[in-house]
Amino acid sequence: DTITSNEAIALEEKYGAHNYHPLPVVLERGEGVYVWDVEGKRYFDFLSAYSAVNQGHCHPRIVGAMNEQAQKLTLTSRAFYNDVLGQYEKYATSYFGFDKLLPMNTGAEAVETAIKICRKWAYEKKGIPEEKAQIIVCENNFHGRTTTIISFSNDEGARKNFGPYTPGFVKVAYDDLQALEETLKENKNVAGFLVEPIQGEAGVYTPADDYMLKAKELCNKYDVLFIADEIQTGIARTGALLAVCGSCSCEGHCERQETYSRPDILILGKALSGGAYPVSAVLADNAIMNVIKPGQHGSTFGGNPVAGKVAMAALEVVKDEHLAQNARKLGELFRAEMNKYIENSGIVHLVRGRGLLNAIVINDTEDSSTAWDICMALKEHGLLAKPTHGNIIRFAPPLVMTKDKLLQCVQIITRTLKDF
Ligand code: PLP
Repeated sequence: DTITSNEAIALEEKYGAHNYHPLPVVLERGEGVYVWDVEGKRYFDFLSAYSAVNQGHCHPRIVGAMNEQAQKLTLTSRAFYNDVLGQYEKYATSYFGFDKLLPMNTGAEAVETAIKICRKWAYEKKGIPEEKAQIIVCENNFHGRTTTIISFSNDEGARKNFGPYTPGFVKVAYDDLQALEETLKENKNVAGFLVEPIQGEAGVYTPADDYMLKAKELCNKYDVLFIADEIQTGIARTGALLAVCGSCSCEGHCERQETYSRPDILILGKALSGGAYPVSAVLADNAIMNVIKPGQHGSTFGGNPVAGKVAMAALEVVKDEHLAQNARKLGELFRAEMNKYIENSGIVHLVRGRGLLNAIVINDTEDSSTAWDICMALKEHGLLAKPTHGNIIRFAPPLVMTKDKLLQCVQIITRTLKDF
């Protein structure tokens, strides 16, 4: 049945919980870097569902794998084995270079899983006294929406009136190695350091180039697990397979010591399925993952055969279509073009990012509506983006972007900005 944009919005307004404030555009179709609204207008998607759709909308290989498996077997639960899970685990562990994978569905679930594994490791391997384990997190982090995860958020909107909060977390400033080392030195009961290689939701805060490497060294020195939340940054988004690969120009299938800060626990979600299906995962080596025994963790849908097939297809696409290299190359072009514009712009203060995870900072206060108004104008001109925080707009198109299309997008963005 056809429905107008206004009708669709009115239905959500009346029957849906108001836990989001979407841009007023109602999408019904997607292909590659494009989405179409119900009135048939085409847009460049510059959000990619928060970097879940890195492989482009409705990638035929991913949708094909999903359809094929959906007609055979969708869910067994983990009470029984299914014929796909083991193959997927073998594929993904060799792809990312870890011994084992624990399958979940959403990003927040995978973060919760990593926290549980880290705590158990701390009690059973490191010898931290029961109930005393602390996990270091960063100021302005975003790791999801569960009660435990929002307990260590410092976003008031995410936290307020959802208490009592889960204890066991210490905050340090992001991109501050001295603060990290002081906390590690002071506190004998630190089990892990949970960090985003680039803080996406906070506004694409890109730390110093050596932050991840040095943070990992500190974790080694104090026998603390280095836990990378690559849910948003991972799977080619930042121009490498993982953001912790740093400046390595391979597609992630190597272990260059000088740039790669290999996590003890790696958390993936979003683009692990190319946006086709909720698939997340936690990866670690045996010495860590084997602390989890039957009955101690699980999920009805985690590891289902559709998820396994979808994830394998999504990862194959990343490799076969060289999406990391494309993101790296086009990201450099995007920032160069934006910087040319910014030189003579009063409205944009700076552009920052890595690969195709970028943001512009608007010359305005955090609580003004300029960034929102710019996104509304971009929508009119056929490009969809969303402010992250107040005056910051994130630009993260699907990685199947081409140079020509990207230059077209730069035109749309700079022309739109001229009206502000
Ligand atoms: N961690 C990071 C870094 C994220 O960007 C997100 C989602 O934006 C999450 C965790 C939570 O993922 P999900 O929304 O799938 O629970």
